[in-house]
Amino acid sequence: MASDEDKAEIERILRERRQCVDCGIETMHGKPHEDYMVKDKVWKKAGMKPGGGRLCIGCLESRLGRPLVGRDFKDLPVNIPGLMADTERLYELKMQATVHYAMKRMRR
Ligand SMILES: [Zn+2]
Repeated sequence: MASDEDKAEIERILRERRQCVDCGIETMHGKPHEDYMVKDKVWKKAGMKPGGGRLCIGCLESRLGRPLVGRDFKDLPVNIPGLMADTERLYELKMQATVHYAMKRMRR
């Protein structure tokens, strides 16, 4: 059995993993939050490694030096708008991504 101290430490580590590495805001819990996946090349361009932590939309954009657009996001369920408690800015981006991939499928 884990002691209360161990549990507190585990909770602290998990909380840290959910936070934006730049500004510390919670990206996965709380309402609303910013859970999403961008393409690997976008993540790399922001100086992030796969599994190397999380960024909020604002900090990702400032690292990239430009606003995000729909095609920066992966075509994955995590990026479906409205499935999670997205912030307004993330909801808009997920809508753009959905339109981008729907158009792409239509052109095939
Ligand atoms: Zn941030």
